[in-house]
Amino acid sequence: MDFNLTNITSNKSASVQHVDVLVIGSGPAGFSAALYAARADLNPVVLTGMELGGQVSLTYAVENYPGFPDGVGGTQLVELFQKQAERFGARIEFDTATEVDLSKRPFRVTAYNGEYLAETLIITTGATPIHLEVPGEVELTGRGVSYCATCDGWFFKDKDVVVVGGGDSALEEGIFLTRYAKSVTIIHRRDTLRAGAILQKRAMDNPKIKFLWNTVVEEIHGEDAVHSLRLKNVTSGEKMDYPTQGVFIFIGHRPNTQIFEGQLDLDEHGYLVTDNLMHTNMPGVYAAGEVADPVFRQVVTSAGMGAAAAMQAILFIQEHAEEQAETPPLAEAKL
Ligand SMILES: Cc1cc2nc3c(=O)[nH]c(=O)nc-3n(C[C@H](O)[C@H](O)[C@H](O)COP(=O)(O)OP(=O)(O)OC[C@H]3O[C@@H](n4cnc5c(N)ncnc54)[C@H](O)[C@@H]3O)c2cc1C
Repeated sequence: MDFNLTNITSNKSASVQHVDVLVIGSGPAGFSAALYAARADLNPVVLTGMELGGQVSLTYAVENYPGFPDGVGGTQLVELFQKQAERFGARIEFDTATEVDLSKRPFRVTAYNGEYLAETLIITTGATPIHLEVPGEVELTGRGVSYCATCDGWFFKDKDVVVVGGGDSALEEGIFLTRYAKSVTIIHRRDTLRAGAILQKRAMDNPKIKFLWNTVVEEIHGEDAVHSLRLKNVTSGEKMDYPTQGVFIFIGHRPNTQIFEGQLDLDEHGYLVTDNLMHTNMPGVYAAGEVADPVFRQVVTSAGMGAAAAMQAILFIQEHAEEQAETPPLAEAKL
């Protein structure tokens, strides 16, 4: 089979393109996968989705990605990822996958602007932190509103910050933030926490942590940086302005796996299930980054998984090309 075949056929106004490697997603995992596949001369195509660069493009500065001793802007890092992948032949398509058919190879992926037949698929569609959806949240993301304490905690040295949520992540990240922050207020809409007992005890014993129960955030205020929250007590209905310099929101993450439901194995939270070689349950389909990782959720870990997934896809293509070469053509086989 000619794996480099680019087969453009007419489908109404859309095209069908046959590619060796299709990467769905343009975050750190996607660009890293594309870089590795491109350097193996496989001309990968990357579907960017709605967020070129993924979550990291939302952040003002990244200080924990190796190689940048002075930190690097989120958007600048994304530009560098893209440039490096393109330098070796990756093609970036500003399109979103809407449907996949993984029942046979090549896998069929439908996007808004066309269709792809992919010999291998690398899924890097990431996860989306669940938002509070209150005024000020979007505008102040990266300017005091954060969804990642490991990433942004350092910027809040000796500041008063707030954590929203009552599960394990909220408490873990709240405890982590006490390394830097002067105080951490955990705001929870109920009067009991969902987090495990040990974490609860640790948080309650921490002198820097206090709790505001039965409370929800209604608005986040600030111009260039957060300065206060509008809070509401859900039992009394009372409202108040609460001064703070940082709001860390940990009310859950939603993996972007809806289009794979019923075709690939997902865990109980909707994350794609992979083995440690990034294989999904479908040979030739790999997953990398946050779409398959509810634990580490970092740029560096996602990029690492992307590289690993691409290395496996390269191997898969090589092995299938060799098998193809070893199989005699039908006429010859009959002799
Ligand atoms: C505000 C913020 C700040 C952060 N700061 C840091 C930091 O300082 N350091 C750090 O290490 N980590 C940080 N993180 C975490 C880090 O950004 C993520 O761990 C990382 O981006 C995950 O990479 P990913 O490639 O797996 O997925 P994502 O970055 O989530 O990217 C997913 C990609 O998939 C695309 N996509 C989704 N659905 C489709 C579809 N159907 N078709 C095509 N494309 C699709 C999206 O458009 C996007 O391009 C931060 C996260 C946030 C939200």
